[in-house]
Formats: sequence, structure tokens, C-alpha cells
Amino acid sequence: MVKPLDPGIYIVATPIGNLGDVSARAVAVLGGVAAVACEDTRVTGKLLHHLGLKQKLIRYDDHASEATRDHLLGIAATAPLALVSDAGTPLISDPGYQLVVAARALGIPVTSIPGPSAAIVALTLAGLPSDRFLFAGFLPSKDKARREVLAELASIKATLVFYETAPRLAASLTAIGEELPLRTVAVARELTKKFEECRSGSPADLIAHYAAHPPKGEIVLLVAPPGEIVVSEADGEALLKTALLSLKPSQAAAEVARQTGLDRKALYARALELK
Ligand code: SAM
Repeated sequence: MVKPLDPGIYIVATPIGNLGDVSARAVAVLGGVAAVACEDTRVTGKLLHHLGLKQKLIRYDDHASEATRDHLLGIAATAPLALVSDAGTPLISDPGYQLVVAARALGIPVTSIPGPSAAIVALTLAGLPSDRFLFAGFLPSKDKARREVLAELASIKATLVFYETAPRLAASLTAIGEELPLRTVAVARELTKKFEECRSGSPADLIAHYAAHPPKGEIVLLVAPPGEIVVSEADGEALLKTALLSLKPSQAAAEVARQTGLDRKALYARALELK
């Protein structure tokens, strides 16, 4: 006989497209809880139906009222409660953070049943450095704010991972092309699904490709760390000359070093010669 689950919150990751990715432990836990808190009862209802389960569903997101959160915490204090999102791992650009904070503050046990998350699937596919990465959620939808975020992240020596939507891909690639022009970028689309694709190249290559083939479906966008691409001296010099049109030598050297990972002191020496 299977041991009943202890009271507490069970964060359960669910598939991001391929239902075969639901883990045996996720199924056992979903089948053993008193209720499932979820973003959309129709979406989670379909998953439970597929798994042959009929647990009670309670709609929840981080904007839910305190009364809803208190109701869930009340359940979790005395019975097992699952938290799922529409797809993937809860709390990763999905609801759950506020519930976990409140549960921990009250001493309610929280455990996580790991499984798919699009950011990690994309990172394993993209062929970009995976030893250090920074997950930055969705880029802002307004162009100015998007560029500010990219400028803020530009010097971070890690692969940048963003969630994206098909209608906004072109605008994000354009902003990356202008803020981080020499980086290799990867677009990972429809992961774990029939039309899974992972395409990498320069921002300009990808802008041209997706202008000719408008993307559909769900997308993760990845940007290589600075210095990861090989920039020839000629490329560096060309960028330096362009930068010197509007910047002082020290600023031009710093900007090109930021974009390329080339040595700032050597660029500065060359900038003084060119000036
Ligand atoms: N919590 C989820 C996770 O762990 O992956 C992410 C939820 S977030 C609201 C939805 C975003 O995740 C999509 O806009 C897309 O960027 C990414 N995503 C989810 N499923 C995906 C898939 N199958 N292929 C590519 N990206 C996906």
C-alpha cells in the first residue's frame, strides 16, 4: 500500500508540450493530494484527465486574494496540497512565489517535484555555454525598457536566457542586434513538441530568417556571454572606428570591450592612435 502524503505544499512540474515528460513521482503526488492549486482549471483539468485523476482544482495565481491564499495555506497545514502551473515548473515565470513565502513563514512544509522547465531544456540544446547562465524571465514589452534591461545585462559573463513570445521575437532580436550586436543568439522554439527547433546565429541572421519565416509557438531566446564569439581584429577595429564617431577614446574602448570581450586597454591604445 502506498504511504499517504504528509501535509504541506507539493510544487509539481508538469510537461511543457510532450505529455510523456510527466514524471512517475508527479503522477503519484498529484494522485495523492487533497487538492491541486492551478493557474487555469481547464488546462490542469485536461492534464489530470489524461492521467486518469480527478483531484479537486482550486484556481490560484500570485495576484489571487489573500483570502484565496489563506484558504490554500489552511488546506496545506493539515493535508497535502499540490501547486502546478499551466506548463513546466511553477514559480519559473509562473505563479507560486507568494504562496511559498507565506508557507515557509508559517512553518508549513514545502517540497518540490522536479520536472521540465523550458529555460533548462533550451540551455541544453542551444550549444551556448551552460556552466554559467542567467535566467531573466520575459524582456519588457516596451522598447525603451527592453533596451535598458539588455544594457544592464550586457557585461554579465554568463549565457542569458529569456522567455519570449512569437509576436515579440522580431522586436527583441532587433534590440539585441543593437545592444549586443556581436553575440551569438539562439532561438529555441516549440520544445518537446512536434515542430521543435533550435536555431542559432548572429542577431542579423536570425532577424532575416524570422522575417522570411514568421515564427509560431513558444520560444526561449538565449544570448551568448560577452567574448564567447571570436571577433577578428578587423571587426574590433571597425567597431572602434564607428564608436569613435560619437564617443571619446576611453568610452569607445570600454563600449567595444563590453560588446566583444576584447581587451579594453589594447582597444584604448588603438583608439588613441586612430583619433
Ligand atoms: N514555468 C514554465 C517553465 O518552467 O518553463 C514557463 C512559463 S512562462 C509563463 C511561458 C514561457 O515559457 C513561454 O512564453 C516560452 O517562453 C516558454 N516556454 C514554455 N513552454 C515552451 C516550449 N515548449 N518551447 C519553448 N518555450 C517554451
